[in-house]
Amino acid sequence: MTVHPLPPVPGAVHEDASMDEHDEPEAHALGVEAARRRVQHVTGVEPSSSFDHEKIERAVRLLFEAIGEDPDRPGIADTPARVAREYDEIFAGLLVDPVDVLSVSFEEAYDEIVMMRDIEFHSMCEHHLVPFTGRAHVAYLPGPAGRVTGLSKLARLVDVCAKRPGLQERMTAMIADSLETALEPRGVMVVVEARHFCMEMRGIRKAGAETVTSTVRGRFRDDPKTRTEALTLLRS
Ligand SMILES: [Zn+2]
Repeated sequence: MTVHPLPPVPGAVHEDASMDEHDEPEAHALGVEAARRRVQHVTGVEPSSSFDHEKIERAVRLLFEAIGEDPDRPGIADTPARVAREYDEIFAGLLVDPVDVLSVSFEEAYDEIVMMRDIEFHSMCEHHLVPFTGRAHVAYLPGPAGRVTGLSKLARLVDVCAKRPGLQERMTAMIADSLETALEPRGVMVVVEARHFCMEMRGIRKAGAETVTSTVRGRFRDDPKTRTEALTLLRS
């Protein structure tokens, strides 16, 4: 098997910083390449850098030690490495620009509302590092150029904005910002409904309560008729 050296990646973790001194450099390069493939697989975008797996593994070991667990206990001995690989997926959004998800758009001379409802997502609350999970509804009114994007790209955009430690409010705005930048639409509406495990597993323990956030811009904000049409589509 031939190992090809990886091209340098701007902003990437410096090799020496993340390399275990016992690691073979080639094994390390293969690990980084596998991590990049995992990120590209879940985002559809070539990542600009990669996470420091060795540091994540040390952190998880420390966490186990701090709560009195033996990190070398057979059941959890592989957990630090597993968590590091898992972060490539669940935090993949940190490694790509959400606007790039929509980079392939096309001019369709379509000037009606485009809406995708019930886009499922899973994210991680940055205050508690436990999940919040729910559905996003995304609508936009194409701009004068009629630039639109594929529906699967809308779902992907929500996914990429969710795959990071974040807050529901910021995620909602990020989806709207990315759509505005990529498509220059006349209006954008994003509604996100989510359950927060930090409210269900701890704190006020409100099982099943949903938090709703929305960002409304352009014609959806200024034109009551367009807004009503969008809200009707959202609820139908
Ligand atoms: Zn929280």
